[in-house]
Amino acid sequence: MDIELNIKPLALQGVDPKRPIVIAGPCSAETEEQVMDTATQLANNGIRIFRAGVWKPRTKPGGFEGKGIEALPWMQRVKAETGMLTATEVATPEHVEAALRAGIDVLWVGARTSVNPFSVQALADALRGVDVPVLVKNPVNPDIELWTGALLRLNAAGITRLGAIHRGFSSVDQKLYRNTPMWHLAIELKRRFPTLPIFTDPSHMGGRRDLVAPIAQQAMDLGFDGLMVESHCNPDCAWSDAKQQVLPEVLDFILDRLVVRDNVEATESINQLRKQIDELDNALMELLTKRMRISREIAAYKKLHNMTVVQTTRYSEILDKRGAQGVLCGMNADFVKTVYEAIHAESVRQQIEIMNK
Ligand code: PEP
Ligand code: MN
Repeated sequence: MDIELNIKPLALQGVDPKRPIVIAGPCSAETEEQVMDTATQLANNGIRIFRAGVWKPRTKPGGFEGKGIEALPWMQRVKAETGMLTATEVATPEHVEAALRAGIDVLWVGARTSVNPFSVQALADALRGVDVPVLVKNPVNPDIELWTGALLRLNAAGITRLGAIHRGFSSVDQKLYRNTPMWHLAIELKRRFPTLPIFTDPSHMGGRRDLVAPIAQQAMDLGFDGLMVESHCNPDCAWSDAKQQVLPEVLDFILDRLVVRDNVEATESINQLRKQIDELDNALMELLTKRMRISREIAAYKKLHNMTVVQTTRYSEILDKRGAQGVLCGMNADFVKTVYEAIHAESVRQQIEIMNK
């Protein structure tokens, strides 16, 4: 697939582009006092970009849906009094217009909006001809094409100062995380668009204060560019997302301890190791080819004896045996299951081909 984005650096005034670029602030702008108190503390700790939700997408009606335009002058005060840049979520052309009029410096498209091409197109149309940085959160569902599509729509409207925010994905088997990271999708986005800055949002990913630090560290280990973290002057009393917001001083503590690794392409020793990986990958492909060949022989036998392709007891046996073996070898059980499900699916596909010959 050869889609390309025409991207320029975010060029955020007064912000050091060194990793990680940090955007911090409360989930929602609640009161002028809460906004100013949080912003002042964050600015004193060196944060240069202040986030606050002015319009809040809430799952059910009746919750706090944001202060709306009433909160925009508070954001202007943050900018005037702390010198920080301001950022907020926009979901409709009206939000875009009001935010731009108020001089908001960075806009972001939320996860419930990037999922909808009509909404994204309406935002793109409203942004045509405007030079403002726009960050696109991943859609709630794990669909990288939708995420890419949202970036392409904005880019086609002339937005070149683009970035992405990885905030994790809804998943049926939510365990530890509020939104499962599925890091591979953010990595794939980086592979497609190497110059696109990607921010990790450990707050919405973890949904819990104690997960902010480890997720932020993981983002740095993987080489992502920035962080968007929810921080509130009184997290327990926050009007939205109370469980995941941290005090500005806690954020400072977390950032201080973050190990930021160099994002260098490759060294000689890595190249040596990569050669070994390539050889092993070749061996894996050969083994898989052999395995599929035997599968096809089995299919020929099944056809001759009028047997069905899938025999569930055999399939369960493979999943159980290999799963246990994988765990003994230090691999994650879910990973082994995914690998064997994929191998089995391809094997079934090839067997059906033989059956229909
Ligand atoms: C937010 O940033 O407060 C927010 C609503 O995030 P998301 O769109 O990731 O759910
Ligand atoms: Mn939030």
